Amino acid sequence: RVVLGIESSCDDSCAAICVAPTTYGEDIISASSERLRNSDGEAELVSSIVLKQDHSLTSGIQPLIAANSHAASLPHAIVAALREAKSKGFIASITSPVEIDAIAVTQGPGMGASLASGLGLSKMLSALWERPLVYTHHMAAHALTPFLRTTTTTTARPHAPTLAFPFLTLLLSGGHTLLVLCRGPRSFKILATTNDDSIGDAFDKVSRGLKIDVDWASTSPGAALEAFVTQRTEGGEQETEDKTASKRWSLPVPLKNKPEFSYSGLKSAVQRQIEELERVHEGQIPDSDRRSLARAFQLAAFAQLESKIRMNLSSEKQGEAIKALVVSGGVASNEVLRKRLRGCLDDMGRGDVELHFPPISLCTDNAAMIAHAALLDYQTTFDLTRSPRAKWSLEDL
Ligand code: ATP
Ligand code: FE
Repeated sequence: RVVLGIESSCDDSCAAICVAPTTYGEDIISASSERLRNSDGEAELVSSIVLKQDHSLTSGIQPLIAANSHAASLPHAIVAALREAKSKGFIASITSPVEIDAIAVTQGPGMGASLASGLGLSKMLSALWERPLVYTHHMAAHALTPFLRTTTTTTARPHAPTLAFPFLTLLLSGGHTLLVLCRGPRSFKILATTNDDSIGDAFDKVSRGLKIDVDWASTSPGAALEAFVTQRTEGGEQETEDKTASKRWSLPVPLKNKPEFSYSGLKSAVQRQIEELERVHEGQIPDSDRRSLARAFQLAAFAQLESKIRMNLSSEKQGEAIKALVVSGGVASNEVLRKRLRGCLDDMGRGDVELHFPPISLCTDNAAMIAHAALLDYQTTFDLTRSPRAKWSLEDL
């Protein structure tokens, strides 16, 4: 099966083509790790185009600007994804790609006007090509992505050697901080979400507050903060430096025993320390203080994640044995986080839990995950009347 995926829930205009055997998903859904290991039916990414909106002129995402940007960019993303598929020999013609079996589109959740762009184009293509639609849930697609094999890595199923349901997903991005139990393609339970700000937003604000240089063309404030902290750590010293920094600033790890995440208290606590340092040093905070505060912030932000994993990762509590923890979203690229999570699982005596970090290009918004989710759970329809679902719970599929 060949599926064209279209994603426009936020500000990125995305289109992708994925291919999988018609039986794809059967092994995964009735999963036993043994069967998965021997399975040869995998989904493969043919093309994936992500056209990003230019944020240099606005602060943050503005719904009307995002919708206008989709109107301009989404058709180009679709044509580019088709062109690449043609150049690779998966389709013979761009105007009537008979090889495409269905069009998968994000129906929600997201910004209404942005979603409407993708839905409108998808419906038009469905009518034009006489191919059915698969209406897809954006967050479910994120959670199912680790099953997707990528062409950029050399070994088959590189990041998901034995991934099987049920598993836990930590989604850590600019807009989300979620811990989800994934039991199947339509069976999700939200174990923790944020009460206020997201973890990515906290990284962005703290990075800006500490005036850490960011090269906007190639990186993000969060990644710049990680690089700034790591720059000066020489082998073996990290643990001592971590302890000293955490003790010095004693930043809050809120809601320690509650099921929710919260990042606004931590963000404000760091902001207060920055203001105090600026006062003491007359606006010129020494680099050593900036670095130490950034380090303490990073550790406090991750401590919350670790405490929620400890709370939830017991088979008794979920009623079933958790085999893996998948960590995705922009913040998942942080190396310190990766090490700490492995340490946390080992500490709990849960060395048996596999830790998966899908490639970041598949963790941040993309249409490959939309096409892939449709291949895994192939529920097609010719209904052209469905509208955007801006608010749509992952637990309501
Ligand atoms: P969403 O997908 O929820 O709408 P988004 O598209 O903004 O949000 P992503 O692109 O997944 O989210 O992630 C971006 C966030 O990840 C930013 O807040 C960025 O600062 C943060 N980030 C990226 N790399 C790192 C890193 N190495 N350490 C910490 N944070 C990081
Ligand atoms: Fe997303």
